Amino acid sequence: DFEKETELQKLLSWADRIRKLGVWANADYPRDAQRAVTFGAEGIGLCRTEHMFMEQERLPIVQKMILAKTAEERQAALDQLLPFQRSDFIGIFETMVNPRTGECYPVVIRLIDPPLHEFLPNYEELLVEVTRLEATGTDPEALKEKKALLDAVAAMREMNPMLGLRGCRLGLLFPEITIMQTRAILEAALEVAQKTGKKPQVKIMIPLVGHVNELREVRRQLEAVAKEITAEAGSAVEYKFGTMIELPRAALTADQIATVADFFSFGTNDLTQTTFGFSRDDAEGKFLMKYVDGLDAPGLPEKVKILPVNPFQTIDRDGVGQLVRMAAEKGRAANPQIELGICGEHGGDPSSIEFFHEVGLDYVSCSPFRVPVARLAAAQAALSKSEKDK
Ligand code: PEP
Ligand code: MG
Repeated sequence: DFEKETELQKLLSWADRIRKLGVWANADYPRDAQRAVTFGAEGIGLCRTEHMFMEQERLPIVQKMILAKTAEERQAALDQLLPFQRSDFIGIFETMVNPRTGECYPVVIRLIDPPLHEFLPNYEELLVEVTRLEATGTDPEALKEKKALLDAVAAMREMNPMLGLRGCRLGLLFPEITIMQTRAILEAALEVAQKTGKKPQVKIMIPLVGHVNELREVRRQLEAVAKEITAEAGSAVEYKFGTMIELPRAALTADQIATVADFFSFGTNDLTQTTFGFSRDDAEGKFLMKYVDGLDAPGLPEKVKILPVNPFQTIDRDGVGQLVRMAAEKGRAANPQIELGICGEHGGDPSSIEFFHEVGLDYVSCSPFRVPVARLAAAQAALSKSEKDK
């Protein structure tokens, strides 16, 4: 029906002629990617592969992979996951085709970014189960099995999972995961190219990088896999390699990081969390409402009005925004070819879009439903900037 809204389509086509920012979408599955194309997205700016791991038939395999005691056990689990991932990516690449030109749109696939607690069995529930089995004493085999699982989970359990074995850190400790995902992505791209004659525009992105050496190491692993696949297939696989900028340290050292990256994508959700020290999972539902003018939380004490806007929705120009601006400048100075985008929630917020236009990013990426608004906001930003420049 969206396509039949002729007035709206006309307005959006005007906006598309004016805007400088590309508008891409965040999508994890082919159905989201299809929606994104319908709403006019020109690429996928973020495919969060960890969501693919959460599916019912896959989660037990993922748990086995994380809790494996030996490299063989881990590899066996990864071998089971590879075909799932390959078909996920085939679906997305096949969908991301420009309906007018028939060319493939760019697709940024981010390697797994866990907080571990989202994958592991719940420690407290396991403890209750073990205590119950101990008390009844009727099933020693089950008790032994649950106790072993409890010990394995205890060894991986973290007090602060959002600051723990997240992002690229998991793949650095267990390179087999990076190898499996890279293989799935590149094999999928080759298969789609063979089947359709169209070459997917593959971009592989690394999450939560804080030090250039992390990125160097992942790049080395990835290049080795690409070389292997090229030898197997007899034709070279092409891809771009990039990173999220979502930690203050990454922004501060963006010049170093840019020497190893073809693109940056700003993860303003984590960048806001780590710059303010506000938990993105808790703050909004708790004290932040009392901090922000215009938000309300019944039952809490009087509003204190510390912040003009909710920084998880609208970019905090003075703090988080400065980090984005600085990283963009440092990144471009060190690597003039670098492509710059943003895939945090702010990518779909009109006032933040105006800021990203000012900073000179190449594209914003947001939820598919926000794409039409983002196209209009990007045009508005371009118009008001040219008015100001007059
Ligand atoms: C971000 O941190 O802004 C981001 C896009 O990554 P995620 O929301 O998956 O942590
Ligand atoms: Mg993030």
